[in-house]
Amino acid sequence: MLKDCIREEIKALSAYAVPSAEGMVKLDAMENPFVLPDDLRTAMARRLSSLEVNRYPEANPEALKTLLRQTMGIHPAAALVLGNGSDELIQMIALTVAKPGAVILGVEPAFVMFRMIATFVGMRFVGVPLKADFTLDGPALLSALEREKPALVFLAYPNNPTGNHFDAGVLEEVIRRAPGLVVIDEAYFPFTDRSFLPRLLEYPNLLVMRTVSKLGLAGIRLGFLSGPAGIVNQIDKVRLPYNISMLDQAVAMEVLAHGEVLQTQADLIRQQRRVLARQLSAIAGVTVYPSDANFLLFRVAQAPRIFDGLRHRGILIKNLSAAHPLLADCLRVTVGTSEENQRFLDALQDTLR
Ligand code: PMP
Repeated sequence: MLKDCIREEIKALSAYAVPSAEGMVKLDAMENPFVLPDDLRTAMARRLSSLEVNRYPEANPEALKTLLRQTMGIHPAAALVLGNGSDELIQMIALTVAKPGAVILGVEPAFVMFRMIATFVGMRFVGVPLKADFTLDGPALLSALEREKPALVFLAYPNNPTGNHFDAGVLEEVIRRAPGLVVIDEAYFPFTDRSFLPRLLEYPNLLVMRTVSKLGLAGIRLGFLSGPAGIVNQIDKVRLPYNISMLDQAVAMEVLAHGEVLQTQADLIRQQRRVLARQLSAIAGVTVYPSDANFLLFRVAQAPRIFDGLRHRGILIKNLSAAHPLLADCLRVTVGTSEENQRFLDALQDTLR
């Protein structure tokens, strides 16, 4: 039978779901709600119109890497590899260590692609549950390290979908005790002041991953992984040729050269996060969890019904109720513009009535 050639674990997966958001207030995917200013859009258009798209893109875009090093403050001695979004980097790292029987360790709930990509590459994923308040269970994590001897540990800092930072001291202990690689995923770095990037070369097994998606460039696909050259250069070998398109490179060069525009937008999102958290927690029956990211996780009775009520009122957020037992009755809303946030709050009040 033709379908017998498909791996059982792939048949058992559900594809990563992206619902249509046409005509809706889109607060489901941690995007920056602000568009670029007109002068930057014009400069971008000028740059794109001069591209020779009959040619392959730069295979190893050094100018873009240099710009990323400057704008993100990457240590000159650390090596850098670029990915088509950090999703591709997660896959590349996993492919590099995917020996038969090798394990990826993470926590749960966490970013679902850690587990999915483990399956793609034939690795076993072990997820250590967070505590009920979504903090790390340090002893459980450290004993899982001992027991599983993972080739790879993925931890997001801040975590998605919970929005909190994990205890940096416990993370350092994990990095010290891990027998393999530890990736700190800093996808939400624009909305926090904490980072492991400055500590990159203090540990031989530490890698830090970031993306420009949440910063305001989700439409191009660009992430980077930084760490010791001896490791990063091995991971770079499994990168497909020309993985960053010419269009993506050009847009990143233009916009990141004016990085202050995106940083100002991120600062506005941080302000709006405070306002939204205050307003949301003032609603009776709603519990809001602390967030250092550009989204808020909240708990409300009958969350699936509330999610549907919001959707019928034109507001798309994320229903996490069934994603993990710790997330029962939890919803996640991305911080939007003040107007979008107000529309969300009005629709929520209306649904709860
Ligand atoms: N890591 C985390 C923790 C995320 O939440 C996401 C996106 N939801 C990603 C990585 C993927 O980002 P990218 O757009 O760069 O693939």
